[in-house]
Amino acid sequence: MSQPKKIAIMGSTGSIGTQTLDIVRANKAHLQVEVLTAQGNADLLIKQAIEFEPNAVVIADETKYKYVKDALDKHDIKVYTGADSLCQVVQMDTVDIVLAAIVGFAGLRSTIAAIEAGKPIALANKETLVVAGALVTDLAKEKGVSIFPVDSEHSAIFQCLAGEFNNKIEKIILTASGGPFRGKDKKFLATVTKEHALKHPNWNMGAKITIDSATMMNKGLEIIEAGWLFALKPEQIEVVIHSQSIIHSLVQFEDGSIKAQMGLPDMRLPIQYALFFPQRVKSSFPRFDFSAYPSLSFEKPDSEAFPAIELAYQAMKKGGNMPCILNAANEVAVGAFLKEEIGFTDIASLVEKTMQKASFIAKPGMNDYMESDAEARKIALALAKKAVKA
Ligand code: NDP
Repeated sequence: MSQPKKIAIMGSTGSIGTQTLDIVRANKAHLQVEVLTAQGNADLLIKQAIEFEPNAVVIADETKYKYVKDALDKHDIKVYTGADSLCQVVQMDTVDIVLAAIVGFAGLRSTIAAIEAGKPIALANKETLVVAGALVTDLAKEKGVSIFPVDSEHSAIFQCLAGEFNNKIEKIILTASGGPFRGKDKKFLATVTKEHALKHPNWNMGAKITIDSATMMNKGLEIIEAGWLFALKPEQIEVVIHSQSIIHSLVQFEDGSIKAQMGLPDMRLPIQYALFFPQRVKSSFPRFDFSAYPSLSFEKPDSEAFPAIELAYQAMKKGGNMPCILNAANEVAVGAFLKEEIGFTDIASLVEKTMQKASFIAKPGMNDYMESDAEARKIALALAKKAVKA
């Protein structure tokens, strides 16, 4: 590696964003921050900008623009605001790779803009592929753009596939920790509070993905994401509960052989792998010790208590805009749960009802996705209000 790789870190103030900056800190000769972005966390964005001196920052919330601009006045850093700026900064000539770590549907447009400009993507924002997998993967093919998975499960599969060339995948097995409510029944889940649900046993993540992990919708979204990343049918994707989160996922090939990727749960590893692929870079991350884990366990997910996985399979099988509808309804439901407006088990039922009510489009284009997202959000919001009254 000669010149440092210049990264645009979209969502730099989040869990993935800040861990990416840890990797940059440890690899300053090889990585350089070109762009940092945040929605509203102006203070952290300013702090990061002063430390990493990027070419540009975006504070998406326009009301915080002046505050950020004034704070960075004496620095040679361009400051932009608004959602459109997110799409512009990823296209700058000086950007070598885009780390897509904005949470939710909000990350879609800037990732598409980056692909349009031919930038390689390190993809954390799984919602991009859930919502518009066909459009995004077709565009990436057309532009010759590589999408490197950051999600630990998909990184695991990607790592298992290294050196396998055209060897066919029989199926993949996505591992799931089971979240904080593994083994609990529906009755218990109906009593769950926000504080409960925000405590993940193995991973420290942003609020939305933490709730998705508790409902297991995160695994549902990952099933759809895996389908697009590795060109798999729903029946080729299996989920197994592995509460220790040591095996990050597995690939079973046509000859029956299974490859797994293992390690301690630490998102810095898949982030680093995506940024440096195909190189493995020496790290100081804690190492796995077999004697500390005398047994690793595996069990089937409980689809009655956690219906989200089945909803995701249904959406994937139906295709078209159905995964977009599922995602929008889930974002609204998680938001309402975090505001303590609806209960934990209302999340999946609200998603299911929205999937039944929203208009289906078999072959959506970009505008259809935007409209479907808006329609599904409207339906889900109305359902959430009803749930509050009930
Ligand atoms: P966080 O909530 O911690 O961070 C989200 C980031 O996106 C923040 O920088 C936030 O800015 C920014 N953001 C939020 N809304 C908008 C918006 N409307 N426009 C522009 N920027 C916005 O999320 P995570 O880091 O946990 O997750 C990011 C993505 O990565 C998600 O898609 C998640 O599913 C995926 N992922 C995360 C993992 C993890 O371990 N955290 C693991 C695997 C995947 P601000 O701070 O200012 O609000």
